[in-house]
This record gives sequence, C-alpha cells and structure tokens, in this order.
Amino acid sequence: MSDAIKKIFGIDLGTTYSSIAYVDEYGKPVIIPNAENQRITPSVVFFDGSEIVVGDVAKESAKLYPNEVVSFIKRSMAEAYFVYEYDGKQYRPEEISSYILRKVAQDAEQTIGEKVKDVVITCPAYFGINEREATRRAGEIAGFNVRQIINEPTAAAIAYGTVQETENRVVLVYDLGGGTFDITMIDIQESSIDVICTGGDHNLGGKDWDDRIVAYLVQEFQRQTGSEEDILEDPDTWQDLQLSAEKSKKILSQRDKTPISITHGGERVKVELSREKFLEITADLVERTIALTNDMLQEAKAKGYEQFDEIILVGGSTRMPQVGERIRQEFSVDARMFDPDESVAKGAAIYGWKLSLNDGLITRIAEKTNRNPEEEDIIKTTPKQIMEEVAKEMSEETGVTLSAVKQSTMDIRDVASKSFGVVARRPNDEEGVFNLIRKNTTVPSEIRRTFYTPEANQERVLIRIMENETGDKVVPVEHSIEIGTAVLDLPAGLPEDSPVEITFKLDREGCLNIKALETSANRIVQAKIETSSVIQGKELEDAIARAQHLVVH
Ligand code: AMP
Repeated sequence: MSDAIKKIFGIDLGTTYSSIAYVDEYGKPVIIPNAENQRITPSVVFFDGSEIVVGDVAKESAKLYPNEVVSFIKRSMAEAYFVYEYDGKQYRPEEISSYILRKVAQDAEQTIGEKVKDVVITCPAYFGINEREATRRAGEIAGFNVRQIINEPTAAAIAYGTVQETENRVVLVYDLGGGTFDITMIDIQESSIDVICTGGDHNLGGKDWDDRIVAYLVQEFQRQTGSEEDILEDPDTWQDLQLSAEKSKKILSQRDKTPISITHGGERVKVELSREKFLEITADLVERTIALTNDMLQEAKAKGYEQFDEIILVGGSTRMPQVGERIRQEFSVDARMFDPDESVAKGAAIYGWKLSLNDGLITRIAEKTNRNPEEEDIIKTTPKQIMEEVAKEMSEETGVTLSAVKQSTMDIRDVASKSFGVVARRPNDEEGVFNLIRKNTTVPSEIRRTFYTPEANQERVLIRIMENETGDKVVPVEHSIEIGTAVLDLPAGLPEDSPVEITFKLDREGCLNIKALETSANRIVQAKIETSSVIQGKELEDAIARAQHLVVH
C-alpha cells in the first residue's frame, strides 16, 4: 500500500482475549499474530518484578502467582474504586489495559516492521460514557493516537458487511464473548451500515459458564471427600479450577463428556462432567441471552423494524453448540457463526482504513476546491464530478481500487447504548431523571430542553448528569448513575421559574458534551463529562510516565 495512506490498526481489547489487525495492500483485513505466533492474546497481565508479562505466559503464571496476575480487567473499566496494588504502587484498570494494548501492538510491530501509532479500539456496545473514556485513556497511556472507539458488534457487522455480496439485509449480531453479551440489530445497505438497536449485559459472558463449572466442581469435591471446606478460599485452587473449567467448557463444545481432576490440600478428586450436566447447570445463562434478545427486538419494533433476515454469531462463547441450537429453536432461523474470534479486530481495521482513505479524500477535496478540510460534511457537499475526479486520483496514487476509495465514504451510523439526562423535579415535586438523549437514538444526536429554577434569587444551578439503561422519558434517580456534574452561576435577582436551557450533544464515539444556558444574562456553562471513575490528572500523567520506562513482554 502506498505511503499516501496512513495505516490505522484495529484492536479488539477483549475481556479474555485481544487481537490486532490491519488492512493489507489488497484491501483485505489481516490479523497480525503475536510473538508466540497466536492470533489472539489472552488479556491477562502478570506483574513480574520490574517486568510486565502479558498473554499466554501470564495466563499460565496465574497458577503459581495468583496474586500477581490480573485477568478480566475489562470488567472493572471505569470502576471508581478499583485499584490493583503491586510493589507499593497502585494501578488503575486503564493502565493495566494499556499493557495488553502495548503487548499486541509491540508484537505486531515486530511482525510487520512498522510502528503502530494510529488505532481504532473496540468496546462493547454496552459501555457507558466512562467506560469508553477509560478505553480511550488506556490507548493513550499505551502511546497511541486513538482515532476512534467503536462498538464491537458494529465492528463485526462492518467485517460481515464487507464480505457479503451487496445485498441489503437486516442482521442481528449476537456477540457472546468472555465477559460480555451484546445483541445488536444492524441494517446493512450498499452504501451504509445503520445500527438500529442494541442491548445486552456487560456482566454476562463465557466466564459465567466457567464459574458454574467451578461451583459444580467445588460441590463434587465436597461430596466425594465429605469436607465442608470452601476450597475456593485457597487462591491456588481457585486459579486451578478456573483454568480447568475453561478447558473443560471448550472440550464440551466438541465432546459429550470430559474428565476433570481437582487437587486441594493433598487430596485429589476425579470428576466426569457430561455435556448434559453442563447444559443443566448453565441453561439459565443461555435463557438470559434469549430474553435480552427479545427485549431488544421489542425496541426495534418501536423503530419500525419488525423482522430481521439472519443472525450472525460472534465472540468465542458462541462456539458452544447450545447457543446456536437455542437461537434456532426460538427464532426459527439458522444462526451462522462468523469469524467469532477475529471479526471484531478485522472490522475495526476496516473502519480505520476507511478513516484514512476518508482523510485522504478530504485533504484532496480541500486542496482542489480551496476549502477548509475541517469543514463539516465536506464530502457530502462536494459536487459529484469533483468527487469522482478526486477518488480516481487517489486510487491511482495509492493503488487502492476505485470502488474501495468510494466505499470509504460509506455512512456508518451507530446508536446510543444508554440514556442520558439530568435530575429535575417533576410536577409532583419528586426528583426524577429527565432523559434528554434516549437509549437507541442514532448518534450523533443533539437535544435541547428547557428547565426552570425552583426558587427565586437562586445563585446557581447544579446540573447532575445521569446515565441509565431505560428508554423512558423520566426515570427514578435510583435507577441511574451520576456520571458528572456542572454548575451554572445565575445572575442576581432572578424570579422563580426562570428558564435554563440544557443541551446534550452525544458524538459518534459516545462522548457527551453538555451546555447550559441562562437566557436573561446569557450565561453559559459547558462541560465535557469527566469523573473520578476515569483515570485523569496527576494519576494519568504518572501512568503515562511509567509506561515510557516499562518493558512489556
Ligand atoms: P472473546 O471475548 O470473544 O474472545 O471470547 C472468549 C470466550 O470464548 C472465553 O470465555 C472462552 O472460554 C470462550 N471460548 C472460546 N472458544 C470456545 C469453545 N470452543 N467453546 C466454548 N467457549 C469458547
């Protein structure tokens, strides 16, 4: 590929595994294997003295050094109080995640002999504002220029949309990964990909199936030895059982039964786990994914989508045959597995590639037409003939096919996966959260609404910015979480019921900007959400400084 196109890499930062991809000179997305020649890298971090080890070795080390190994860090993203302490230092989830990003990027650099600088990172559709911001910060700590954070199911749909013959279809992406479940309806057209609706649970994934096996093994150990001890209190045993549970689960995707041995306190117990038993102890988990899918379909109906054409399965946990079977039974369609481990990173890479082609087009259009490249909608407002010329020039210069260059202008529209609002009083004087941007609204979205001061001579208003899961207009405060605040100072002597106009703007990436305006004195506050649950300030500077001196293996 010509240097005229900047390489933007796609990284799937998964709960259990991560991977990196780029688009090659033929326009095909390619996964770059790690130093161990694996296409996916366990998202496991081992603090080994002054070294950080990520991946298979870290996962294996968990048995011997359970307290020095961190797994499933993605589940703690943007948790205000999560810190991992090692050697007198405290690490936030963003910093630990940055090591995983560094590992996949470093190994990719070794393989392809090029620096990884610009990246698109994926996150579950289910992530709220803070988790997205935390993901971005993880990328920044790792030293990347994070071009965009995109949703995993959207990435999978992009990968799917580009291999499909150009037929218009409505697709459900059923994404069951290691720690999260996302269900998303996507309308794939020739020149656009529209996310219609999204739902899921970010605490439901392969790990829950593992945990059920672990619980069963503990029971079996107690039954066979007659002991009542909770063997999971021993961190070595806990790690051991976690690893055996995941292995057995994978075996049961192929076979009817698997032997497992449990060693604890000098005793050894053998258990045979049958697929039947496994299905019995995990049936409610599959059911939960079906219920969440039905909830999402209900919401899609409200948006005029009564039907879908097919279901694609992504995420490693869809390899469990019971998932496809249950879906078939419920929806009478054949669910197809689509590149379950790799489609997300590949889709992110395609998205990155489109961004860089798009950048190239914009620069050329701006030069040709003497316009400012920062202008909004510059591509859409360029006359067709100039567009054609520029696309042709670019294709000739870069060696990328003309249709690929044109396709880079494809519209990809996502939806908000949460609702966002402010706390205000209802007519009955009770406080409630008034949602301005409602879940499953297409982004970017800008909504303005006027609220009124409850008292005369009020000096300021405190705006509490809230996030919640429902699509309702007004939600009880206790069903929302506060993601930030802003204070608007008011001019003196305002009467009761003075209007304050609040505008919420949610951008493509799920970043929320807030503006509050008091009209009589034209006072404005603007706020971008920044909360203590995301690493910032001195902590962020320290993490970046530390990252520069750190070796990740
Ligand atoms: P992902 O986050 O998409 O990489 O998915 C990882 C999850 O998929 C982990 O919980 C794995 O244990 C699970 N997984 C991978 N392969 C299989 C398999 N063959 N059978 C069952 N689960 C699997």
